[in-house]
Amino acid sequence: MSRPISFFDQVNRNFDKAAAHTEHPPGILQQIKEINSVIHLTFPIKRDDGSIQVIHAWRAEHSQHKLPTKGGIRYADAVNEDEVMALAALMTYKCAIVNVPFGGAKGGVKIKAQDYSDAELERITRRFTFELFRKNFIGPSLDVPAPDFATGPREMAWIADTYATLAPHDINALGCVTAKPVSEGGISGRVEATGRGVFFGLREVCSIAEDMRGIGLDPGLEGKRVVVQGLGNVGYHAAKFLHEEGGAIIVGAVEYEGAISKPDGIDVETLMEHRRETGSILDFPGAENLSDRDLGLELDCDILVPAALENAITMANAPRIKAKIVAEAANGPTSSEASDHLFERGIMVLPDAYINAGGVTVSYFEWLKNLEHVRFGRMEKRFEEASARQLLTAIEGATGRTFTDREVATYAKGADEIDLVNSGLEETMIESYHGIRDIAHRIDGAVDLRTASMIDAIDKVALAYRDRGIFHVR
Ligand code: NAD
Repeated sequence: MSRPISFFDQVNRNFDKAAAHTEHPPGILQQIKEINSVIHLTFPIKRDDGSIQVIHAWRAEHSQHKLPTKGGIRYADAVNEDEVMALAALMTYKCAIVNVPFGGAKGGVKIKAQDYSDAELERITRRFTFELFRKNFIGPSLDVPAPDFATGPREMAWIADTYATLAPHDINALGCVTAKPVSEGGISGRVEATGRGVFFGLREVCSIAEDMRGIGLDPGLEGKRVVVQGLGNVGYHAAKFLHEEGGAIIVGAVEYEGAISKPDGIDVETLMEHRRETGSILDFPGAENLSDRDLGLELDCDILVPAALENAITMANAPRIKAKIVAEAANGPTSSEASDHLFERGIMVLPDAYINAGGVTVSYFEWLKNLEHVRFGRMEKRFEEASARQLLTAIEGATGRTFTDREVATYAKGADEIDLVNSGLEETMIESYHGIRDIAHRIDGAVDLRTASMIDAIDKVALAYRDRGIFHVR
């Protein structure tokens, strides 16, 4: 019997498909594809009842062509070495696509987070950090984790504190991890960055009339019917911004416990409140419960946003997907076979390595902030405001027109950290999309956007190897 194709195999299958459209030397392509380092750690922790449990954890650094390497840490009972390697490889390609100067990495701890108390999670997180430190797998110039499935700012703060304790002379210690709470060296806008990036990306994609007509949709995000799978950090924020800022209608939601449909639109905040109160998205007023959560993915809609885990869309359900656009907010939600099938059916798949890159983009901004030791906007905000006010006064003098207080406040607003973060994120998502789209067009639309984005990534990583050469110890 043949071995089922693993997640890492799937990523490499996509890589090979894209590499066939490039002319890089085979050795360079092989070097880009391989995992540079991977460690499997086992360590004991004390449970609250006094018993000892052995924890399995991994960290993979896929490509050290640029340092530090960067990638989240997930807590899930399905974590394994193949998954961590696949996700690390995706991070390399993701960073290249959005021009974030990092190599790719990923970490995972094989635990179901809900089965552990906060104190136990803290012990696991701190011990994992200690083990990574001992093996030189963490540090602001080496490898910089971030959150992923079931981890968030709290875990990142524990990691930063543990690292800083172990490396007291490292003045850049806070740059050892990103997505920390703002009070602990984090940056405004990081929590929602991935979801906001999904929104910026989709807004840009939908604004291109020619492309929308090609898939039978009107241009613009306004009024588009959206289904979101996974209302965690990424899915919740994506749904929120798509609805509140883009005017899209959330017609379905899929969670662990089930799926709901509401063609006239779900108010995301009210749904989250309902889930907090009842423990479930089911029985949401005005919505229909579906008999099986996976049917939610097959609802009639314009845009499907899988934002949970990998393999949500496989050949088992791809033929029944009705969306015209699949925006891969999660990493690896579509198997490579299913992705080909969707492309053949004319469904636009916005690949994970592009559409969910908002998180790593803002993580990059946070890392820069940590190295600079100053908040973005602190030096220039007042100066910009004063200059703009002088300009407005001059215009008033020249024209005789007086600006209202509201106009002055708007025109003479110096940028806060959040303004700069969101502006940098918006620029990144728009610019990167056009880079990918241009490649797809260059190949006469014969490749899907995943392949186009992978060609983009391979070209950029290959360029790094070409320009810096191959290091040999003499
Ligand atoms: P999260 O833990 O905050 O949320 C995941 C959500 O998915 C949870 O609400 C969970 O209940 C739900 N879920 C799990 N299994 C499900 C299933 N079978 N059906 C429906 N819902 C299910 O995690 P997150 O940080 O939002 O990450 C989600 C995905 O996005 C992951 O693939 C992750 O790698 C990717 N991602 C996250 C970030 C980030 O910044 N957090 C960045 C890029 C990519």
